[in-house]
Amino acid sequence: MAAIDGLPPLREVIAAHGLSARKALGQNFLLDLNLTAKIARQAGDLSACDVLEVGPGPGGLTRGLLAEGARRVLAVEKDPRCLPALAEIAAACPGRLEVMHADALELDPLAHLTPPIRVVSNLPYNIGTELLVRWLTPPEWPPFWESLTLMFQREVAERITARPGTRAYGRLAVLAQWRSTARIVMELPPEAFTPPPKVRSAVVHLQALPEPRFPADAAVLGRVVAAAFNQRRKMLRSALRGLAPDIEKRIEAAGLRPTDRAEQVPVEGFCALARELARGQDPTQTAPRAG
Ligand code: SAM
Repeated sequence: MAAIDGLPPLREVIAAHGLSARKALGQNFLLDLNLTAKIARQAGDLSACDVLEVGPGPGGLTRGLLAEGARRVLAVEKDPRCLPALAEIAAACPGRLEVMHADALELDPLAHLTPPIRVVSNLPYNIGTELLVRWLTPPEWPPFWESLTLMFQREVAERITARPGTRAYGRLAVLAQWRSTARIVMELPPEAFTPPPKVRSAVVHLQALPEPRFPADAAVLGRVVAAAFNQRRKMLRSALRGLAPDIEKRIEAAGLRPTDRAEQVPVEGFCALARELARGQDPTQTAPRAG
């Protein structure tokens, strides 16, 4: 039996280390090791990869990642109460698990991990979208990660994978689908977690594309989609008014209609608009009409 299989059940670990869940840290733990192994498998073959896990908590998913053969796992946890439980897992897998007591928002992954790198996490809901947006919008592409396999509230997972023309389509969909393929690979009911959250959850798998689907500057695109979806019921010409004095001309130069609403604009259209806005104040150059 592998040493990791000899570790005590997670309920015992939680009781032994007094890990009562804290809402402020987004703590909803996965205690079923069959389930955590299944989530780990959604990330594919990990035997040649370093894995970044944000928020290992008592280590259910960490155990799944190690049991599924991850070359090395860096587990970054903010709650110091979890560290002794994680140290027991590290001791059972010499050289394969590094536990870091840190805030994931402050971490530079490349300082601690060797590519190829995959990210697999049951994210704390309060920083999940912020981390995702950061991972999707580095200035240079490809990013430090090959794939992201992430648990979100189901509603957030739907927003990441939504198609244009749907209510869920917005900033997350555009940023995710611009530079990756994103799909929901698992759904989980509240009872899968301890304590159960109020909502259903889902695992999203995002595979980084070698190149973005359409050229655009990440920062400009980020500003355009944030403004467009901030007032999603308004026409582009009003929602984007603050971005340039001649915004209507630029929208047209990008091949879009000033009367369109953000929800109708495909990723290609937002990229064309970001390129127009990046041209500075000279709107005379035009881009092909977005499809
Ligand atoms: N991975 C564990 C599991 O599946 O059972 C726990 C998941 S729980 C949803 C989220 C974890 O993220 C908690 O352990 C929490 O303490 C940790 N966390 C919250 N904010 C964090 C941050 N800023 N940086 C690192 N970890 C954080």
